[in-house]
Amino acid sequence: MKVLIMGRPGAGKGTQAANIKEYYGIPHISTGDMFRAAIKNQTKLGLTAKEYMDKGALVPDEVTIGIVQERLLEDDCKKGFLLDGFPRTIAQAESLESFLNENGIVLDAVLDVDVPVEILVRRMVGRRVCKGCGATYHVEFNAPKKDGICDVCGTPLIQRNDDNQATAENRLNVYDKQTAPLLEFYKKRNLLKTVNGNQALDKVFEDIKAVLGA
Ligand code: ADP
Ligand code: AMP
Repeated sequence: MKVLIMGRPGAGKGTQAANIKEYYGIPHISTGDMFRAAIKNQTKLGLTAKEYMDKGALVPDEVTIGIVQERLLEDDCKKGFLLDGFPRTIAQAESLESFLNENGIVLDAVLDVDVPVEILVRRMVGRRVCKGCGATYHVEFNAPKKDGICDVCGTPLIQRNDDNQATAENRLNVYDKQTAPLLEFYKKRNLLKTVNGNQALDKVFEDIKAVLGA
């Protein structure tokens, strides 16, 4: 199972990726998570990424493409992978396509989790993530059992730096300009599978399984 998951910021990619990872037993590769880990570890990559992420802009292609290629060559990706948040520009999609061709890797599907833009700022501003295990919650739509504490590992939840109103709005604009054209790119290649992401969390996952097959 070699799959990309796309969708506007806040559409539910990370939430569904956790389900897909567990159900299909494939690694979840999120460029956003990789950048956040680099920021936490104060690496050179982290310093560069932070500058862009805090504004809601995209990290430059030359930085992003390299880290994904390196990751896809690791052993655990031989059985499949789920790429979340990459590609986000036509240049990234083209470079990914060449890289996959050169390595004899064939994509099975590109999932598009479709959610109307009007509700996404509220989803992002209410998002909380676990500092320990990375699980994702929402203060209204997917609240933890105990306020501010992760159900899975008991670690305090935090709010992402870029999950404020202004940055969230900017990320939605960046998506429209730079990422939305990828839907046509993958439609032309007969890979695009659109799933309605504006439904209960479990229902979205049921639809994803129906599209990907058992
Ligand atoms: P993305 O990875 O696409 O940015 P997330 O998976 O982090 O999005 O989800 C964004 C926020 O919306 C999170 O707070 C999450 O709990 C919440 N969320 C995800 N899917 C749904 C859904 N189907 N209904 C309501 N809230 C959702
Ligand atoms: P995400 O966790 O997917 O919401 O991504 C958070 C932020 O990380 C984005 O707003 C970008 O600044 C950066 N980012 C993640 N993936 C990419 C990518 N493929 N290309 C450029 N920037 C990215």
